[in-house]
Amino acid sequence: MNDIAQQIFNIKQELPSGVVLVAVSKFHPIEALMAAYNSGQRIFGESRVQELIAKVPHMPADAEWHFIGHLQTNKVKSLLPCVSMIQSVDSLKLLKVINDEAAKIDKIVDVLLEFHVTHEDSKTGFTENEFVDIETELLSQKYNNVRFCGIMGMATNTDDQDIILSDFSKLHIIFDKLKQTISSNNPEFKTLSMGMSEDYKMAVSQGSNMVRVGSSIFGIREY
Ligand SMILES: *Cc1c(COP(=O)(O)O)cnc(C)c1O
Repeated sequence: MNDIAQQIFNIKQELPSGVVLVAVSKFHPIEALMAAYNSGQRIFGESRVQELIAKVPHMPADAEWHFIGHLQTNKVKSLLPCVSMIQSVDSLKLLKVINDEAAKIDKIVDVLLEFHVTHEDSKTGFTENEFVDIETELLSQKYNNVRFCGIMGMATNTDDQDIILSDFSKLHIIFDKLKQTISSNNPEFKTLSMGMSEDYKMAVSQGSNMVRVGSSIFGIREY
């Protein structure tokens, strides 16, 4: 086995069944993605629109693409045909553009709402204060071309495990609360996407069922 296949194998062995692994392949070349693909990996996460679009034609058709980066509304149209899920919906404006553009190409796209629970300014996402607005929007049932599948979030970038666990726990609470009110109209609302290379084990301990792992699979990124 090559290193990439070995890493995927190791991570999968540690993940409880039911936890989906997204291989975050941003900044890595097609050969690396193919090594992952050949070991059985099918879901790839990318955070830049141009890079994702450029990679798609070089990979087998059954590779699935999740967008995980900040998405500008003017790039939604070109991204949509390529992705099965957008994990990083961080504003109602973006949600509306995704829905409108998906309607134009007759697509129903899976989305996760990104929540921001840390005190770091640099991170995007809805805050807990926006919870009621979001709930109201989702209950309005005017988004016929998106499937609300759950939420995504990140923990503070720190070595303090208590802070990381508490961030993941906050995300889990938001997920449960939202699920309670909207799941009767959104039966696919099941995914709690949290955890990256450094913290995915802690995320899983706090209820994550989708982890987004990059450097532990592919090595350090060269920006
Ligand atoms: C880059 C990225 C990851 C993967 O990070 P690693 O530390 O390389 O595992 C996960 N989620 C998001 C949103 C990212 O941008």
